[in-house]
Amino acid sequence: MRIGVPLEIAPGETRVALVPEVAARLVKAGLEVVVESHAGERAGHADAAYVAAGAAIAAGARELYAAADFVLKVREPLPHPTAGGHEADLPREGAVWIGFLAPAKSAEAIDKLAARRVTAFAMELIPRITRAQAMDALSSMSTVAGYKAALLGATALGKFFPLLMTAAGTIAPARVFVLGAGVAGLLAIATARRLGAVVEAFDVRPAVREEVQSLGAAFVQLVLTGEGEGESLVGAGGYARELSADQERRERELIHLHVKAADVVISTAMVPGRKAPVLVTEAMVKDMRTGSVIVDLAAETGGNCELTVPGETVERSGVQILGPVNLAASLPQHASQMYARNLMALVNHLVKQGELQLDFEDEITRGACVTHAGRRRVDAAGRMLPAAASEPAAQSAPRVAV
Ligand code: NAD
Repeated sequence: MRIGVPLEIAPGETRVALVPEVAARLVKAGLEVVVESHAGERAGHADAAYVAAGAAIAAGARELYAAADFVLKVREPLPHPTAGGHEADLPREGAVWIGFLAPAKSAEAIDKLAARRVTAFAMELIPRITRAQAMDALSSMSTVAGYKAALLGATALGKFFPLLMTAAGTIAPARVFVLGAGVAGLLAIATARRLGAVVEAFDVRPAVREEVQSLGAAFVQLVLTGEGEGESLVGAGGYARELSADQERRERELIHLHVKAADVVISTAMVPGRKAPVLVTEAMVKDMRTGSVIVDLAAETGGNCELTVPGETVERSGVQILGPVNLAASLPQHASQMYARNLMALVNHLVKQGELQLDFEDEITRGACVTHAGRRRVDAAGRMLPAAASEPAAQSAPRVAV
């Protein structure tokens, strides 16, 4: 079986799906690896490093796709600038495709993959279950984003993060408030703490209190009294659930107090499959000190701050509001390394004795497979289509030799 790694063509993308270290491990496991020339360069890996790892180099995209049984990608298929066509039209019929597929904006590309009878897996649909942790590319990229968010905040703020005792007197540390203490939030907390800031964090899940505190930050908790008292703010699978209008109002009051006191707000709150909750309002921004900074990691899904503009930095009432997108591409070496390891874990899950084995009763295969046997399996929101959900087990667990 031959694994193919194309050069990423999305504007601003610097990551590569496979790094030489992981290519060598796949080669050692008996797979062939072909990498498109220059594919790893922006992530720090020259073609020669892949050759040393046992991979072959393809001169261009057409050669690469023609050779690959298994395509490993970072970004969703896009119109190709040089290969003359759409990336989704380039794989061999019946090939396997693994990468982020952005189902909400890639309807046409996913239909094209289905039409080519490509079996495609979307890395963003890998279920966040213990067994799939090694494949959880969203967490890998959020790790990068959380770290970078703290650095962006520190760079944009006209103050030191740490407490300093200098000959010119004492400098007070910066105050950082992190909204949402999931993967990105915890990395933002840890990074801001390492830089010496005083950090507070808020999350609707009280279960994260200990993690937040173990990183040296204070945990801000929403205690509901009156309506909603004793109600859990945690929904299915331990994720946050959407709050009622009244709970949202009380949450915002609490957040307002802490936002007002902060030099830097880093927001990372999300509920899977939903638009990002708006936690920081225009009124709160007006109440912040001039020179304060908001780094809104949820920019791409609507923003946790109502003034965020995705991909831009805007200034409102003397506060800079950063809406960075694709922060993973700003740290391409480690982002690619983590992503490549996530991909290898999924390849190992799908390939047994050199053959692709699809078991649609398996939660990981079932959850992440977007197209198979000429059909689309999920809708634009990544929800399984009824036809795929009701597939009889006998039909859905074929051994497919590639
Ligand atoms: P996660 O699910 O691990 O964490 C999200 C946290 O938000 C959870 O702990 C959840 O309980 C909390 N939350 C939900 N609703 C809340 C509310 N109303 N108030 C307070 N907390 C609330 O998600 P993650 O992987 O850490 O990703 C966080 C965000 O970062 C997502 O929006 C994701 O899309 C974004 N992200 C952005 C980039 C980028 O480059 N900008 C890169 C990666 C991830």
